Amino acid sequence: MKTALKRRAFLAGMAALPAFPAHARELSWVATHGHAGFLTAQLYPGASLTLHPEALTENIVALTIDDGPDTAHDPEIRRILRAYGVPATYFLVGRHAQRHARLVREIADDGHEIGNHTWSHRRLIHCTPEEQAIELRRTSALLETITGRPTRWFRPPFGSYDEHTLGIARAAGLETMLWTADSQDYRDHPPVVIEERVMRGLTPGAVVLMHSNHAGTVAALPRILERAKDERFRFVTLTEWKAQMERAAA
Ligand SMILES: [Zn+2]
Repeated sequence: MKTALKRRAFLAGMAALPAFPAHARELSWVATHGHAGFLTAQLYPGASLTLHPEALTENIVALTIDDGPDTAHDPEIRRILRAYGVPATYFLVGRHAQRHARLVREIADDGHEIGNHTWSHRRLIHCTPEEQAIELRRTSALLETITGRPTRWFRPPFGSYDEHTLGIARAAGLETMLWTADSQDYRDHPPVVIEERVMRGLTPGAVVLMHSNHAGTVAALPRILERAKDERFRFVTLTEWKAQMERAAA
């Protein structure tokens, strides 16, 4: 076969293969735009309340820390949060939590909230509905065994979900929460860049995304908490964030 013909046959074969399984359809605004606005459907999809951050009576913000527990950085992150009296919400990965159960217990005992970030941190739109349900249920069961508390919050890895995910989360007793401000600490920017990205996103009701497993997060966090305090922001867990948002919506 001539090269051009071979190439055409190869491309025709490629076209016949779908890029993703048929069930994969990205529905998440965050996954395609990087962060949500304060539209309920983008930030807190499936919620029964409508977000009105402009009606908040207090300058609250929620700090969320994903992908842990991480033995290299979480002990230092915990120490910084304790020093500033800041509660956070951790979205933990089940398979890491299984390996470091003591660290999970310590995070919970510090007063932080623990959320579900799936068992294996797979992109859920590449999973069948059955696989998604296992990812969520197995993780909640483990976290509840370790902490003795029910798991309330869920964040899909990469902020990515399809038409099945929200219902699967709801059936597992979980509320899905994305973020409004992405620190991009996972890109290993210099700490000052992480700091500026977070500070730019700090508005009343903001939900800030950071991570357990990057050195830049640890380096940037004290300055962020210091400046937030100067600007009179108060950090709250997602459960308190929700309570304040409900009051603002009433
Ligand atoms: Zn993640």
